[in-house]
Amino acid sequence: MAGSDIIVCAQCGEDQDAKNIRCARCGASLETTEQRQRRLADLEESRREAERSDVTIQRLPGFGHNGTPRAMFGTKEFFSEMSNQMRRRYYVVVAVVVITIVFLLRVK
Ligand SMILES: [Zn+2]
Repeated sequence: MAGSDIIVCAQCGEDQDAKNIRCARCGASLETTEQRQRRLADLEESRREAERSDVTIQRLPGFGHNGTPRAMFGTKEFFSEMSNQMRRRYYVVVAVVVITIVFLLRVK
């Protein structure tokens, strides 16, 4: 293979691709301490980065300082912001409440 560097494992003497972190034969680390620190630092950095964007996604609207305020409950805007699933549930709850009230009034 042209272009790929070959390094020799210090532990077992096996030729290894320089891209490998560990020896495929004996599992000894092929990295220098510097390379390892660099790799772990990059990993930590990307982990923090991922966490940061995750937190941004999870932030609830209407809470905190960056959230967009939700429409007031019961207003026309609130209803149009509602998802179809929520709307269906809303109808079901309203229907159940109405049926319950009618039932209670008839029992009396
Ligand atoms: Zn080895």
